[in-house]
Amino acid sequence: MTQTAFIGLGHMGLPMARNLLRAGYPLKVFDLVRSAVDTLAGEGAVAADSAADAIDQAKVVISMLPASRHVEGLYLGDDGLLARLPAGTLVIECSTIAPESARKVHAAARERGIALLDAPVSGGTGGAAAGTLTFMVGGEAQTLEKARPMLAAMGTNIFHAGPEGAGQVAKVCNNQVLAVQMIATAEAMAMGVANGLEPAVLAEIMRQSSGGNWTLEKYNPWPGVMENAPASKGYSGGFMAELMAKDLGLAQETASHSGNSTPMGALALQLYRLLLKQGKGKQDFSVVQQLFVQ
Ligand code: NAD
Repeated sequence: MTQTAFIGLGHMGLPMARNLLRAGYPLKVFDLVRSAVDTLAGEGAVAADSAADAIDQAKVVISMLPASRHVEGLYLGDDGLLARLPAGTLVIECSTIAPESARKVHAAARERGIALLDAPVSGGTGGAAAGTLTFMVGGEAQTLEKARPMLAAMGTNIFHAGPEGAGQVAKVCNNQVLAVQMIATAEAMAMGVANGLEPAVLAEIMRQSSGGNWTLEKYNPWPGVMENAPASKGYSGGFMAELMAKDLGLAQETASHSGNSTPMGALALQLYRLLLKQGKGKQDFSVVQQLFVQ
């Protein structure tokens, strides 16, 4: 099996790497947080002391980092990984970053004969753990075919969105819809409960009616409605509000680039910024519910 480096073992990266290990891929793993590295080392991965150590002998490199600056910092520049990797290496970059940033990393990889995909994901930590993520891939179709068996060990839906950066464009469109749905669900839950409905009854009615959406299916923001949702665990785990604010910012930049009007996305960004100002950025993004509770 292909020797693989996995860098970034946070909420998403750790369960994704775990699924690769279970599928038999030999992994060398690195994160700035040592405890995450140790967890996977206890499950059969080799622990690396640095990103450079992780990529030693690797034929494939996978990364799952917070934002554009982390990805550019990891790959670009004289000390970056692209300067160290041999031509022919496959890099699968799964973080959600600016399409422009992804194109910059693609260009640097291409110059060195390294095959790179931008492959952001959807499906949340539940999808990462279950191996049912959706991958939205930007890059060469033939590179995607090389990566497909590994992606299939982590996800069920694998889409070729288009050329370099297209995976990131698809991802910011998707997350803008997700944020708007989450806010709409949260404000409706608060209104219904304030007018006397049981939260679980209202949630089920909307889920089975024309207001039904992904947040009502899998991720209800009202505490106690869904046992395993972050809302029922003090809004811990899941997808941090600060990362959603980042993605909504990327969506606004993408819209500015093309001259599109995206008023719902703009309002969603403002509401998430408000949450960040309230010190809730590290909580799951469904904590937006608290803006509407009277
Ligand atoms: P996270 O903050 O939990 O994990 C990021 C990890 O990267 C952290 O463990 C951090 O220590 C590590 N890291 C940062 N810089 C590093 C470096 N230079 N070298 C090694 N490790 C480094 O974030 P997450 O929730 O896992 O999200 C990761 C990416 O996936 C983000 O771009 C996010 O927008 C996207 N995403 C998240 C979810 C979700 O539900 N959490 C869903 C889809 C997409």
